[in-house]
Amino acid sequence: MGADRFVLDWSKVVSYFDALQKSSDRIRVQELGKSTEGRPFLAVTIAAPATLRQLDRYREIQRRLADPRLTAEKEAQSLAAAGKAVVLITCSIHATELASTQTAVEFAYRLLTEDNPRFRAILDDTIFLLVPSLNPDGVDIVTSWYRRTLGTPFEGTSPPELYQKYTGHDNNRDWYMFTQKETQLTIAKLHNVWHPQIVYDVHQVGANAARIFVPPWMDPIEPNIDAIVMQESNMIGTAMATDLTAAGHKGVAIHAMYDFWSPSRHYQAFHGGMRILTESASAKLATPNTVEPSQLERNALGYSAQERSWNFLEPWPGGVWRLRDIVEDQLIAMESCLYQAALHREELLRNFYKIGQRQIARKSPWGFVVAASQRDPGATRKLLDTLAFGQVEISHDPAGNHVIPMAQPYGGWAKALLERQRYPDMRLYPGGPPQRPYDVTAHTLPLLMGVQVDAVESPVSGLSPGMLPPAPRATLQAANSDTWVNVNRIWDDGGTVWRDPASGDFANMARPGWQQLERPRIGLYRSFIPNNDEGWTRWILEQFGFRYTSVLNSDLQAGDLTKRFDVIVFPDATAASMENGFRPDAMPAEFTGGIGIAGANTLRDFAAAGGTLVFLNRASDYAIRRLGVAARNTVGEVSNSEFYSPGSLLNCRVDIRHPLARGLPPQLAIWSELSPAWETQESAPVHYLDDHVLASGWLLGPKYVAGKAALIDASLGKGHVILFGMRPQYRAQSYLTLKLFFNALIYRTASRT
Ligand SMILES: [Zn+2]
Repeated sequence: MGADRFVLDWSKVVSYFDALQKSSDRIRVQELGKSTEGRPFLAVTIAAPATLRQLDRYREIQRRLADPRLTAEKEAQSLAAAGKAVVLITCSIHATELASTQTAVEFAYRLLTEDNPRFRAILDDTIFLLVPSLNPDGVDIVTSWYRRTLGTPFEGTSPPELYQKYTGHDNNRDWYMFTQKETQLTIAKLHNVWHPQIVYDVHQVGANAARIFVPPWMDPIEPNIDAIVMQESNMIGTAMATDLTAAGHKGVAIHAMYDFWSPSRHYQAFHGGMRILTESASAKLATPNTVEPSQLERNALGYSAQERSWNFLEPWPGGVWRLRDIVEDQLIAMESCLYQAALHREELLRNFYKIGQRQIARKSPWGFVVAASQRDPGATRKLLDTLAFGQVEISHDPAGNHVIPMAQPYGGWAKALLERQRYPDMRLYPGGPPQRPYDVTAHTLPLLMGVQVDAVESPVSGLSPGMLPPAPRATLQAANSDTWVNVNRIWDDGGTVWRDPASGDFANMARPGWQQLERPRIGLYRSFIPNNDEGWTRWILEQFGFRYTSVLNSDLQAGDLTKRFDVIVFPDATAASMENGFRPDAMPAEFTGGIGIAGANTLRDFAAAGGTLVFLNRASDYAIRRLGVAARNTVGEVSNSEFYSPGSLLNCRVDIRHPLARGLPPQLAIWSELSPAWETQESAPVHYLDDHVLASGWLLGPKYVAGKAALIDASLGKGHVILFGMRPQYRAQSYLTLKLFFNALIYRTASRT
């Protein structure tokens, strides 16, 4: 494993684990289900044979320790004495970070075949759950690209496509919304069944960083995560760093780079378990890479890769770095993590129970109430389902309101997702520029989804357990109500909806006097530069029954799109990347280049002839530069120190008479992330509020956006160019602003009816 220029096919990983299972009584291999593109999704269990024979018993111990309402203190002590520490190690969710799948193969083999005191402790005192890849499709995407480019100038580059069909690198930003199959399988069949005390997720970072990062994490720590969880991850992380150093490995960093804010990356931290992360410096996929000492990062967050410091005690001097070096670091890290779990087995289990006790003792707020009557019953149902999938217990009161008391094992999880975030004002140095959050700063589902949820301080009485409301069947979009997302699929198989010419309401069944509305013919721009936002857009379109065709640069350059499409959508990307694509020296010729001048002309002709062009977030800049939309981005030239909105929810007012705003409330929160805000004379149905702009997350310099436009509807010839100063379909979470996006998609077909 880890040999130069050697990559693995997923089928080989599957058959190898199958062979291990046939040859050893220390391992069980299970296919949990299929990946997005139909590959087997594996979970491997490794433990002493006596443990494997009683897995049901140990699962029951975990279940009882996880919920102190089931288990008295005294019983918990004896369960902790009898139980095993459960450790889940997950590999290669980011498929270009390919080492850990190979490490998983070698480490499993060694655990089954070697006899030494540390391995004996691991087998006897832990239950080791191993996911050799959280993204089996990606293994094959990267493997086939690597082989294709081997021996060419492009050997070791990343593939010019997303390595998970819909989410790409955002597949590890899905751990509270649970949209993708891989996330769902892992949560439902491993986390929620096994309640692991440790989840170690194995990653890689760029070529010039520390050789390996291990926790402690950096600030900020999400406020609903129990301090015991964090203290334990400090303990396990520093022990792993010690083992790596004692084994002679250089370049080990702790307490650097990675914060612990967004729950999109760490479900378990709100479910009684710690998240261990390692990030190893990368080679060029499986090709060795030479790093000059001067190339090592000097200004990384929290350390310099060139200098000794308390959290980076032995710098790596530079030189050749190969896949095998990464595998060897990871072998030690995996062994160390499991050995620490074995050493601390009983305390980890006792603390696990204690964390549950502390959750149940939560006093303020008493709970949250989701009113029975909502503008958007469909989004409400989706929100409740999402919480329930994360093991939140939802009751209802005699009036049918949904009630979520905090006194439950995962009350903190519910609270994190239901309350508004107050991200701390983090600066690189006092008075200096903002310290970039590792991901984004807001995760308030009620604002994203447009659901009314209220925190209450006094107990709600007369509660009955369980019972979610049935999924709404109605498919009406009333002009002044919020029911667009009432349905799973807006378009029936015939691709027709009906519209009331008087009120503007839509329905997916014929009604007297209503007119048919055709399904819009959607083109979705796809660059060869992999774009997560493009993938999320495909996902959303498919979920709601829209049909689309991917539009490549060659389609734009060929011209005459009027016959094929009513609307063309450009996902969030910089104007420069859209115009130029990959540079000629970066990729094989067929993947280079961008929209170019011919493409810009095609787009202008398309709109002039009556088509709709939709630009999402930063892509709007392209429409201003190349299609002549008259708008000035008021934050375009402003420095981070003055204006900063790194993934936050910001308050806007809506002109609900405008056709793009049909079905929306007069005020809403939009997803702002590197987003423009405009001064314009064009029609603009959404504007930022004049004050109280921040709804959730972090915002510097609200005055730069206050009162400015966040959505523009510009005319071009007979058509429209629509600019979204937001991500209206953000990671398949922002159900409220999806309506703005859908209204843009049907703009042309609705006006033609
Ligand atoms: Zn990664």
